[in-house]
Amino acid sequence: MIKFLPLGGALEIGASCFYININGTGIILDSGLHPRQKGINALPDFELIKNENVDAVLISHAHQDHIASLPFLIRNHPYLQIFMTVQSLEIAEKTLHNSSRILKEQLNENDLIVPYSHEEINLLLRTVREKDYNEKFYINGIASSYTKELEIEFYDAGHILGSAGILIKTQDGKSFFYTGDINLSTQSILNGGDLPDEKIDTLILETTYGATDSKLLNDWRHEELRLAKYLNKIFSNGGSVLVPVFALGKTQELLSILNRLMKKGLLIETNIYSGGLSKEISSVYDKHKYKVKRKNKNFELKDIPQLNLYEIKDFNEFRRNPGIVLASSGMMIKGTKSYELMKNWIKYDDFGIVIVGYMDEESPGFVFANSKKGDIVKIAGIENPVEIKCNVEKFYFPSHSKREDLIEIVKILKPENVVLIHGDPEAIDWVGHKILNEFNDIKLYEARKGNWLKF
Ligand SMILES: [Zn+2]
Ligand SMILES: [Zn+2]
Repeated sequence: MIKFLPLGGALEIGASCFYININGTGIILDSGLHPRQKGINALPDFELIKNENVDAVLISHAHQDHIASLPFLIRNHPYLQIFMTVQSLEIAEKTLHNSSRILKEQLNENDLIVPYSHEEINLLLRTVREKDYNEKFYINGIASSYTKELEIEFYDAGHILGSAGILIKTQDGKSFFYTGDINLSTQSILNGGDLPDEKIDTLILETTYGATDSKLLNDWRHEELRLAKYLNKIFSNGGSVLVPVFALGKTQELLSILNRLMKKGLLIETNIYSGGLSKEISSVYDKHKYKVKRKNKNFELKDIPQLNLYEIKDFNEFRRNPGIVLASSGMMIKGTKSYELMKNWIKYDDFGIVIVGYMDEESPGFVFANSKKGDIVKIAGIENPVEIKCNVEKFYFPSHSKREDLIEIVKILKPENVVLIHGDPEAIDWVGHKILNEFNDIKLYEARKGNWLKF
């Protein structure tokens, strides 16, 4: 029997973490931190599995909402076998220390957890068993009632470097596929993802863009030209542009877009400000250029001239030397670089803010994704409502599948059971209704934190 229990990230893009028990073998899929919640509230609810046996944890990719609570999980279950792709491990070596520092700042003495140390992270990372895409590996839990091990395989998910969908197969022919965050379409650097070439029994499907009209996501090339036009207008008036982006994934894709537009003469050659963690992650992208499916194997991010954003101490520098500023966090969460810059940025009518990624409804970024120049808005952390004097524009460079592709995944894998996760309620609703309308014989399940499902 297969039992499935969400510990977080079910009806939201939050602390993704799912427990699955397959005939006695306990596996955890992802161990994320909520991108917006603080301190202990950002963790998955590990209490839910305190009486369950857990043998292994499989990490789909190195975004914070999928990996950043791993040290806490390992503290509760120190004997767990940890598996992730080679690339995810290299990225985690750069990012987990940063997540630990942020969490440490947020925790107070009323929280009953102790932040993890850099030594703990280093030790943890040394125990990771790294796997290539499509390299089969095997897990057998101590309480397994199978005689043969479970067979596991990572499939390139096309979302960010190292991202994987996870296939688990049992000796009696049952199969289970967890998409992680998946993107079937080509981005600027990465090619679209792969799916198993076989029928799946149970599919755990992400639904990030379930509520987004695909007309907006369809034409990457069209968006690039629209972006160039918008940026050129601001640069020719002497303004700078702030782009809040995740250091992992979106920054690298955007650098590649800007570079190509400048090379083709479609975008005014200008300064690009970046740095910090994103630069270290870009070096991992460069290192693995031959190992993963990429559009252009010769392209390297380090060849793109970039100024170090973290060396700029005086805001007027963005007026003296205008340019495009790629700053994390992607959702302009309070206390981050993009949030701090935004507070000044909005005062200047010749400056611009470009929104390119998914925004949580309660994040400051969401306010900008749904506002325009001249609007008076309330931003978390700023006491009084403020006027947005700068220009604001939204562009779509998706790193998740558009919603029709999510249905396509169902069509290809022909599952009997589908569990929808990793989306806002409206997104899950759209995908759920579509599946019920198009497929008569699929059992659809809603995932809820703490709610057991059995297949
Ligand atoms: Zn992701
Ligand atoms: Zn995610």
